[in-house]
Parts: sequence; structure tokens; C-alpha cells
Amino acid sequence: MTIVPRTCERCGGVVPAERVEALPNTRVCVGCSRAMGGEFDVYVVPEQTGKAGSLKKNYGGYTTKKVRKPLRPAE
Ligand SMILES: [Zn+2]
Repeated sequence: MTIVPRTCERCGGVVPAERVEALPNTRVCVGCSRAMGGEFDVYVVPEQTGKAGSLKKNYGGYTTKKVRKPLRPAE
């Protein structure tokens, strides 16, 4: 598999192949990611293993949920 550089969806610049390799889901270049304070918002979500409607607190643990931030054009 060859890693190819991408075009940044925010500023139109080049996303280097190294960044694409490290973060296959990335859509923005390093500069934009930094300007945005990170490309993703990460939330911690408790895993509910109990039956729906059950009041038993039977959490299995926690998972993380990554939400892509909306891309705003660079000023
Ligand atoms: Zn950019």
C-alpha cells in the first residue's frame, strides 16, 4: 500500500504522506489541525451492558467516541 499526500480540505494545502500514514482519517494539514485545536473532539462514553429500561447500573466500562469537528475555512 502506497501512502500518497492529500489535499487539505480547509486550506487547500498539502497533507504530507507521513500525516496520512499516522492518521488515515485525517482531512486537514498539520497547520489547520493545530489552528482548530485538533481535528476531532473526543468524548468518553460509558458502555451500558444492562438491559434497556433496567435501573441496574451495570456499566461495562468506557469507550471513546471521536467526532469530527466541522471544517471552517481558514481566515
Ligand atoms: Zn490546511
